[in-house]
Amino acid sequence: MKWHELTEQEVIQSLNVDIKKGLSEKEAENRRKKLGYNELAEGKRQSNLLLFFGQFKDFMVLVLIAATVISGLLGEYIDAVAIIAIVILNGVLGFIQEKKAEKSLAALKELSSPQTTVLRSGKWVKIPSREIVVGDCIKFKSGDRIGADVRLIQVSSLEVEESALTGESVPVGKHTRPLKGNQGSVGDMQNMAFMGTLVTRGSGVGVVVATGMKTAMGQIADLLQTQEQQLTPMQRKLEELGKVLIVVALLLTVLVAGIGVMQGHAVYEMFLAGVSLAVAAIPEGLPAIVTVALALGVQRMIKKNSIVRKLPAVETLGCATVICSDKTGTMTQNQMTVTDIWISNKSWKVTGAGYQPAGEFFENGKKIDPAAHKPLKQMLMFGMLASTSDIIETNGEYSLDGDPTEGALIVAGMKAGLAKSKLLKQFHIMREFPFDSDRKMMSVIVQDKDGKCFAVAKGAPDVILERSTHVLWHDRKERLTEQRKNDIQKAIFHQANEALRTIAVAYKPLHTGSLPQAEAESSLIFIGIQGMIDPPRPEVKQAVKECGEAGIKTVMITGDHVITAQAIAKELEILPPNGKVMDGSSLSKLTIEELEEVVDDIYVFARVSPEHKLKIVKALQNKGHIVAMTGDGVNDAPAIKAADIGISMGMSGTDVAKEASSLILVDDNFATIKAAIQEGRNIYDNIRKFIRYLLASNVGEILVMLFAMILALPLPLVPIQILWVNLVTDGLPAMALGLDPAEEDVLKRKPRDPKEGIFSRGLGWKILSRGFLIGLSTLLVFYFIYERNTEQLAYAQTAAFATLVLSQLILVFDSRTEKTIFDRNPFSNIYLLLAVFSSIILMLVVIYYEPLQPIFHTTPIMARDWLFIFVMSALPTFLLAGSILTRKKR
Ligand code: ATP
Repeated sequence: MKWHELTEQEVIQSLNVDIKKGLSEKEAENRRKKLGYNELAEGKRQSNLLLFFGQFKDFMVLVLIAATVISGLLGEYIDAVAIIAIVILNGVLGFIQEKKAEKSLAALKELSSPQTTVLRSGKWVKIPSREIVVGDCIKFKSGDRIGADVRLIQVSSLEVEESALTGESVPVGKHTRPLKGNQGSVGDMQNMAFMGTLVTRGSGVGVVVATGMKTAMGQIADLLQTQEQQLTPMQRKLEELGKVLIVVALLLTVLVAGIGVMQGHAVYEMFLAGVSLAVAAIPEGLPAIVTVALALGVQRMIKKNSIVRKLPAVETLGCATVICSDKTGTMTQNQMTVTDIWISNKSWKVTGAGYQPAGEFFENGKKIDPAAHKPLKQMLMFGMLASTSDIIETNGEYSLDGDPTEGALIVAGMKAGLAKSKLLKQFHIMREFPFDSDRKMMSVIVQDKDGKCFAVAKGAPDVILERSTHVLWHDRKERLTEQRKNDIQKAIFHQANEALRTIAVAYKPLHTGSLPQAEAESSLIFIGIQGMIDPPRPEVKQAVKECGEAGIKTVMITGDHVITAQAIAKELEILPPNGKVMDGSSLSKLTIEELEEVVDDIYVFARVSPEHKLKIVKALQNKGHIVAMTGDGVNDAPAIKAADIGISMGMSGTDVAKEASSLILVDDNFATIKAAIQEGRNIYDNIRKFIRYLLASNVGEILVMLFAMILALPLPLVPIQILWVNLVTDGLPAMALGLDPAEEDVLKRKPRDPKEGIFSRGLGWKILSRGFLIGLSTLLVFYFIYERNTEQLAYAQTAAFATLVLSQLILVFDSRTEKTIFDRNPFSNIYLLLAVFSSIILMLVVIYYEPLQPIFHTTPIMARDWLFIFVMSALPTFLLAGSILTRKKR
């Protein structure tokens, strides 16, 4: 079908839609059943079977399997079957971990998936873009990514960037006229808009003509293969470390086996012991556990209203030193209410709160009827006319559809008895020049019943003042003299100083409605200013304080007036006594180098445009800061991308900003950034915790074998015991460490240095010292019990096994903190308690359950030896904790 050649009417008819009502839910469902979901086919996923077998492709595991098969052939059936069973169990565990990681990552993708506004049964509703069907009417505005291929039926200054399809990055202007004789190349179809392209300006409505693989994007979808999974810096470092550890573990096990053979052990016995030790000591499960810990952490973050789009951001969060945050909506509630109005040196107070249109007007403390004051009524009326938003009443409740600033203006008009629907009957809106944060104003051209045209503009008072040549002074048009300008500036200052957001309204009679924008918006007649409150979010002050304690500076960036911004920054205690405020025009004059000089002293940037944000990010980064930057509009995207942590708004953010960001704030709230940083620090801490636990345990396992071989003792542990420790004692508690709650001081520490290595801040020493002591105490238990009765080797081995297990299970509590084991409540992580408890039960089962004894080469241990085992197991952890405490005291 050549949709671009048809008129709008023909399109609507052939798709069988009612343009006023859209499709009904039922009809949409029917169409979806017929044509499927609106999604592009994805690249093939790895099958479960492949993923499962992938668990065994590790070289050492293969050697182990081969070795056990050989031992099976040699008649050691029990050993062979047991070892294979443990290897399979290990594989299952790895499989479950990977599946879980995959699932949570998929769930994340789902959460940050795009949405589209569609007309269904007469109402505009937001739905996931994948639910769009052919025949749906969809609307979009600047910043949106278009969800399907549409034939446009209504546009307002619509421009779309189609580089994803055409490679051409200059936005294309769109219209709704049919195009005859067009070749049908995407770039030429100006009355169509395509899935995946970006609205850079204006707004539009279109009827969906193709979805999913039928869209222009679908036809080239094969070219857009699915992205590689991103690794975090920690994961990358771990991958490299893994390779080193494999070599070290192999060398050590070869050493153990070699010495063992030299000391007279059987070659076969040492071979199997060596391979088991290598399998146990190589932390092959580490990357999977890291992914699970990241994924679980990310899920916790979702519960706290932040969605991580790029996994590496989780780690970077813990390094943030500066948060640059928008003011409106992020630090404030974005619930605007007009409270002060100023016209020609007269001012009025307006009462009422929220979007409920109930309130009164007071002049000098006396109630007045606004309808009786002509300029006041005129300004309220123009404010309403130039607002594209709406206040909607349902069952006596009033809500806003659109921009809160405009909502406030409309409600102020309603309080004076005006109604937007009535005004729209008196005035026809001919054209609209939309608001954007660069211009800080917008305007409409309207025509009244007599055919007279006006331009009506509203925007930041300083901007409107610059474009005005006249002023309405006591209902008379006057030239805008210096004196009048001074009066207006005083009024702006006065309102801003009260922390009010200010909007000026101006107008101009026109001869014709078809003037170019620049002309329509110049030589205006200034009427007055409306000041609105936007109360700070109550939780922000505390969040700013906590960020300060965590070594993170909060910087407010806003398009609002300098004085308004300063007043709110003081209220939120963002601005310290010696802190500075800079406005957009001063910022424009500085080079990045000059900005670097002063940037550390600045806490508020006001009246800035989105492109200023990039400059601020760059200057801060050049000063060595790790910058988190928020944004919501199209023009914010470059700064969001350039920041170390780009943050976008879930509610008010555009698709473009969201796609550029690595973190989305579901509730647009500044306090959520703090919570995300806290969680990010905790996730990183937890990863360090289980790396420390696993590696220290592995060092212990290798050393006990090494020491025994050097001292010409028998094997202190048999291969199956080593594998058991690796599976049960190491695996479960390590996973539980990934769920450890944050330490109390996470937000009292300074940010982490992003360049620090895995073993920094004493981690390497902790691993070696604890590993050494665990190896030593296990060996001592084995040695003493073996020396007591050399006939009972299995008994001594069982005691060594129990010591190794218990000392690791005690060590796991020590791994929960960078301080000492006494600094954390051992009961605060229920998962860990469960893991430790079940590991102990399983150890007892292996020791006392008769049918398992021949498999695990165990014998029951006497009560008095348990005491010895327990003391020796606790010794490594408590010795070290004690030494730290005494060092501290000194
Ligand atoms: P931030 O979210 O970064 O704190 P902001 O919302 O304060 O920014 P902008 O939305 O860029 O900043 O608004 C800048 C100025 O433009 C406002 O102070 C106000 O005077 C004016 N303004 C805001 N919204 C509108 C609108 N819908 N129509 C006309 N003028 C507006």
